[in-house]
Amino acid sequence: MSKQRIVVQKYGGTSVGSAERIQEVAKRVIRHREKGDSIVVVVSAMSGETNKLVALINELNPNGSAREKDVVLSTGEQVTIGLLSLALEAKGCPAISYTGSQAGVKTDNSFSKARISNIDCSKIKADLSAGKVVVVAGFQGVDENGNITTLGRGGSDTTAVALAVALDAAECQIYTDVDGVYTTDPRMVPEASHIPKLALEEMLEMASQGSKVLQIRAVEFAYKYNMPIRVLSSFDEGDDGKSTLVTREEDIMEEVLVRGVAFNKDEALLTILGVPDQPGVAFKILGPISDANIEIDMILQNASADGSTDFTFTVHRNDYDQAKEILQATAKKFGAKNVGGDQTIAKVSIVGGGMRSHAGVATKMFEALAKENINIRMISTSEIKVAVVIDEKYLELAVRSLHESFRLDDA
Ligand code: ADP
Ligand code: ASP
Ligand code: MG
Repeated sequence: MSKQRIVVQKYGGTSVGSAERIQEVAKRVIRHREKGDSIVVVVSAMSGETNKLVALINELNPNGSAREKDVVLSTGEQVTIGLLSLALEAKGCPAISYTGSQAGVKTDNSFSKARISNIDCSKIKADLSAGKVVVVAGFQGVDENGNITTLGRGGSDTTAVALAVALDAAECQIYTDVDGVYTTDPRMVPEASHIPKLALEEMLEMASQGSKVLQIRAVEFAYKYNMPIRVLSSFDEGDDGKSTLVTREEDIMEEVLVRGVAFNKDEALLTILGVPDQPGVAFKILGPISDANIEIDMILQNASADGSTDFTFTVHRNDYDQAKEILQATAKKFGAKNVGGDQTIAKVSIVGGGMRSHAGVATKMFEALAKENINIRMISTSEIKVAVVIDEKYLELAVRSLHESFRLDDA
């Protein structure tokens, strides 16, 4: 007997945002199953539900225990797995729903940003063999002590890719409200172009620079285990609409100089002024921040003038207050002059595999921003990315002018 192809399909919040939308998802799943594939569906909470849960938590106890917050946050997905299974059942399709814990999604115990350590797929495999569609709650898992954990906002993408890897699926399909990955967020720039195919490495940079169409950890998983991701719209009528295939094929990388423009408004900047310029200074400043499990993104150390230097870095805005407190304590120890910060910054990045072999891309980016009189506050580069920090108020102007300068609208 030939082995059936397994396909994992993930439907995001807007795709399951109402009873009608869930009906549409059920119909699509059934159409795919009728083609002969075994289907595992991962769903998010209905759109807006996770935000409502966050608001409730903040109303009652914003500084409360991380464990209890995850107990609350994980509930949105439990509603949609049950509803989708009921909708499938009503249409005569055998289905079974599992929470993350029931599906065997094991994670570490970093509540609110847990990492999947392994997935025990035995139950899912048995259900698929019995002809059922398996519906799994995204965004959640369980730690070794049985505590419910969540995987960070947008984490259902990661559940889907991790399941696809664990089940050795043919493809991981991410259904959302856009029909693929565009040269920039089409909500900000309607002229953005559709990208039919891009390299996982490029998507990794786009996601890490803020393109929320895929969660970064999902892309990391896909890259590590060579799992192709296809991004599609659940709002397309049929099954032959546009899509974007994100794969590890090397040759796509060289196709274009700049693939897209990503941006991020979630960061904040912190500066410590007048610290002694001596060995170990970066470690002494950033060590305590990392110890508090706060991720640092960009770092800038000014040239030393009088034996002292200024040190600037960015963190997620949610971590700003805590990072500032830690920095103030460090400043006291050092006898540093001052600690400053700014929460109204934005990061804009250009990403493209072709940059590896072409010089001058960064200069062109700086020229485009200079033309618009936009001041650059920090710069960082990688082989396939140039990122700058600017004032938040110029974000849209910067994205539009970069999109135009690199001719991405005619891509
Ligand atoms: P879901 O709820 O399905 O997970 P998300 O809101 O997380 O959907 O992701 C889809 C959204 O990502 C799109 O509506 C779009 O606004 C945004 N987005 C950001 N950057 C891009 C990009 N480069 N291409 C496509 N969509 C993007
Ligand atoms: N419901 C979660 C969120 O809103 C997870 C997800 O949608 O991927 O972040
Ligand atoms: Mg998402």
